[in-house]
Parts: sequence; structure tokens; C-alpha cells
Amino acid sequence: MARERPGRILLKVSGELLSGFSDGVYDDRMITSFCRDIKKITEEGVQVSLLVGGGNILRGSEMERLGLGRVPSDQAGMMATIVNSIILQNWLTRFNIMSQTFSSIPVGFLVDEYVPQRALELIEKGGIPVLAGGTGNTYFTTDTAAILRSIELNVDVMVKGTKVRGLYDGDPMRDPSANFIPHIDYQSYLDNRYGVMDMTAVMMAMQYRMPIIVFNIFELGNLCKVVMGEEIGTYIS
Ligand code: UDP
Repeated sequence: MARERPGRILLKVSGELLSGFSDGVYDDRMITSFCRDIKKITEEGVQVSLLVGGGNILRGSEMERLGLGRVPSDQAGMMATIVNSIILQNWLTRFNIMSQTFSSIPVGFLVDEYVPQRALELIEKGGIPVLAGGTGNTYFTTDTAAILRSIELNVDVMVKGTKVRGLYDGDPMRDPSANFIPHIDYQSYLDNRYGVMDMTAVMMAMQYRMPIIVFNIFELGNLCKVVMGEEIGTYIS
């Protein structure tokens, strides 16, 4: 079965993808293969924006568990997304992919400030906005930033690459009878308090009817399959 092929997507690049299978912050093989896929899908005519996470460097909630304040922890988390965006954009440049980093938080001359119209101009020229700094607000996550930017940039679908196949009605690691869920509506997702996307993000997606695909980006070729409209991962709509 096929889904509609999207013309414009926003892909959330989590910190977990950047660290890949390595013990370090960046996995050269993983990011290289990711950049090749991005090149391939842009050559197919798909317009792509990348919203970058920071979990390979730090997550606010983890710092809070160590007894640090949530606000400075989240501020540091947002800075981590900027560090990752600068690195990822540089990686894309190696593949001659036109891209530009935009940050929700002003960081002087290092990175351009995010203005939706400027990101849209770049998309229309065939370039890739690399979106840094999350929403620019503490107590949010990059999942919510990804939905917010998807709405602003008028994409067809927000695509979240993870380490898991998508959504299950239980924990497949602990419960072998857990069933995979290929499609779920926003309200059922919220009622069941599933965890692959945060609640604020799904609530906002529901309000503005932004479909979401959660899929395993660690499996070779999956990103290309998703943009070709193949039914992999979980579709939240
Ligand atoms: N963060 C934030 N506001 C945002 C986005 C991110 O405060 O709008 C902080 C938060 O502490 C988060 C960290 O930045 O834990 C890194 O983002 P996230 O955990 O979403 O990264 P990912 O899991 O996608 O790598």
C-alpha cells in the first residue's frame, strides 16, 4: 500500500541519529549515509527542511535529574541543537547540498536568525534550511519545534526518524505480543499517551492538521522509501 508522495517535508534529525552507532557525539558513517539520502531525495524533487535535535550532547530533562535547574538546562539543550546544526550543515556542504543554518536564538554572526520567509525563500530555490535552537523557549522539545516549523513552512508532512519502527501498543522489548500500529489518529494518540512524539507536539499537529510519520531511520533506505510514499513507520493524522 502506498501513501501520497509528499512534495515538501520537514525531517526531524534527532541527536540519536547524529551519534548513530558510535559511542561519540557524531557517527561519520551514519551522517554520511544520511547526507547521501538527503541528496537523493532532493534530486527527486522533494523539498526538505531539517530540524535538528541536541540529545547526543545533552537533554534538559537529564540535567534536571542531576539536580540542575530546568531553565539553564534547557538553554544549554537549545545551544546543543545549534552546535549540531553547524556541524550537520557543514557535512551537507561536503555533498554539494545547498543549505543554510537558521537559529531561533540569536547567536551573533555564527548563524543566521530564523525568519520563516527567509527559510521559505531558500526552500523555493532548492536549498535546505537547517533549523537550530528548537522553539527558542525552555520547557519545549525539538518535537514541538518540528511541528511548529512544519506549519510555518507549509510542509506536507513532518517526518521523524527514530531508532524504532514506529508506534506499538506496548513495549516490544518487554512484551513480544505488543502490536505495531501503522496508522493512528491524533486524538487516540493523545488519549493513550504514547511516547514516540511529545504531547504538546501532537496537540499542535492536531490543531493545524499536520500529518506526522515516525519511522526507523537507522534502517538503510528507509528515508527514501518514506518520501516515495511507501507505507513504513506509523502515520499520525
Ligand atoms: N530544548 C528546549 N526548547 C526547545 C527545544 C529543545 O528547551 O524548543 C532543549 C531541551 O532541553 C531538550 C534539548 O534542548 O532536551 C535537546 O532537544 P531534544 O531533547 O528535543 O533533542 P533530540 O532528542 O531530538 O536529540
